Amino acid sequence: MHCIFCKIVSGEVPGHVLLRNEHVCAFRDVNPVAPSHVLIVPNKHLASIEAISAAEADIAGALLLAVKDIAHLEGISESGYRVIVNTGEDGHQEVQHLHIHVLGGAPMQHQLG
Ligand code: 5GP
Ligand code: ZN
Repeated sequence: MHCIFCKIVSGEVPGHVLLRNEHVCAFRDVNPVAPSHVLIVPNKHLASIEAISAAEADIAGALLLAVKDIAHLEGISESGYRVIVNTGEDGHQEVQHLHIHVLGGAPMQHQLG
């Protein structure tokens, strides 16, 4: 498996990990585009949202709950943040391991895209 995010999850490749639990791992984006830019990934290799099965609803739930935990840890719960999940070619997904971007610490552009 040559997946960079699987390697960060396993510890084979170093990452600035902020949170880890049974289902997910959260670490700082190596190329931040906001003062706070954290990626939340499932510990299990799932290529994208498209790869989540109904049997993995616990993982899907853990991903969303981790967004809230990260916002709290980063001190951006009150000020707010943006959550992005790029998916597939049109979504400009570059790493083929499902990840949620949590962006905050400054006002985001008002528009999407
Ligand atoms: P995507 O376009 O797939 O949603 O974004 C992938 C994100 O992963 C990018 O923001 C990029 O900076 C980040 N990234 C790529 N490789 C690494 C890495 O090795 N470590 C970390 N921490 N982030 C990475
Ligand atoms: Zn992976």
